[in-house]
Amino acid sequence: MSDYKIETKCVQAGYTPGNGEPRQIPIIQSTTFKYDTSEDMGKLFDLEVSGYFYSRLQNPTNDMVAAKICALEGGTAAMLTSSGQAASFYSIFNIASCGDHVVSSSTIYGGTYNLFAVTMKRMGIEFTFIAPDCSDKELNAAFRPNTKAVFGETIANPALTVFDIERFAKAAHAHGVPLIVDNTFATPINCRPFEWGADIVTHSTTKYMDGHAAGLGGCIVDSGKFDWMQYPDKFPGLCTPDESYHGVTYTERFGLGGAFITKATVQLMRDFGSAQSPQNAFILNLGLESLHVRMKRHCENGQVVAEFLNQNNRIAWVKYCGLPDDSQYTLAQKYLPNGSCGVVSFGVKGGRKAAEKFMMNLKLAAIETHVADARTCCLHPASATHRQMSDEELKIAGVSPDLVRFSCGLENAEDIIADIQQALNKI
Ligand code: PLP
Repeated sequence: MSDYKIETKCVQAGYTPGNGEPRQIPIIQSTTFKYDTSEDMGKLFDLEVSGYFYSRLQNPTNDMVAAKICALEGGTAAMLTSSGQAASFYSIFNIASCGDHVVSSSTIYGGTYNLFAVTMKRMGIEFTFIAPDCSDKELNAAFRPNTKAVFGETIANPALTVFDIERFAKAAHAHGVPLIVDNTFATPINCRPFEWGADIVTHSTTKYMDGHAAGLGGCIVDSGKFDWMQYPDKFPGLCTPDESYHGVTYTERFGLGGAFITKATVQLMRDFGSAQSPQNAFILNLGLESLHVRMKRHCENGQVVAEFLNQNNRIAWVKYCGLPDDSQYTLAQKYLPNGSCGVVSFGVKGGRKAAEKFMMNLKLAAIETHVADARTCCLHPASATHRQMSDEELKIAGVSPDLVRFSCGLENAEDIIADIQQALNKI
């Protein structure tokens, strides 16, 4: 499958049926798996052999879908999680614990910011948030001896900044830590962060990958390239024996390609249990089969809508990296040459009140927390996803109080534009 183009992988990777087997991925709706002897099962618990024993850790349907996403991203191993939040949490907590520190881009999804700045802080992990366009001096100054990772979003939700993956990967590696990239908005169709030096990729598969607002989910993919063994003191969880598995050392037993995901599966999934249901994994796979077709249309609609808004005198500003006058255009040309996503952020003249009135009058586009869906939807982040942030924090996250996040679906662009126009006329 590795020689095939990404479109073919979307449709076929992850599962190859044998003679007489189901054409579609089977949903293994079973919490548990049967063995002939306790000894057989003991070998699984000792990680001596691979196999399934309880779906909180691993399930065959989930693994087939994870294998497809792994192939799309060009990684060595992957796992599904119950949500994008769980993926973000595991990706950090797998290598950082109480007393550690992480450098994160300041323009990230509000839920991730909350997870990092509030919940994980309570767990003793400190985050330094830096602007994605910070100077090299500021970037290097953000690292500490106890820094364990760098985190950013390929296309930030909802600030729509484009993350300079290559630059941040170089900085992370110079300080002996991996770069983790949330690739939710771009999807591997438009950007594959491993090709630019990222080490771990995360997804909220709830968004474009599922694409139909049908199933919540997340995914973590490992590039297999980060050499944990070069820094055994920094990453003891991967490089020293795990007493909860009779002294297994993940890097030794599973190699660089498998250590990170195996540890996250057998430790974090075992203990926190944020497993995706096999039903949701099946639904996710249906979405993945058409991801390449849908992303193209989302991007076309996003571009047309952004151009329309950019020329409309009722609009104060527009943010879309496909617009030549956008501050992110140059970075987008580098990382997203075939398109970015269908999400456009803009401000309506008249500020927050005008934005609320505009949204209230939309007919086709629905007000939803959701984004990156087949149906056009929109959100006022300052009132919703970013509600917990102070004005100062909003500014740092690239979210102005008048920002409308508009997620172009798969409808005819003329209908989306007509809907926007009629709602603007009513302000
Ligand atoms: N990452 C990004 C970029 C997101 O937009 C979201 C949700 O909107 C998440 C992570 C969290 O994903 P989920 O809602 O699936 O938990």
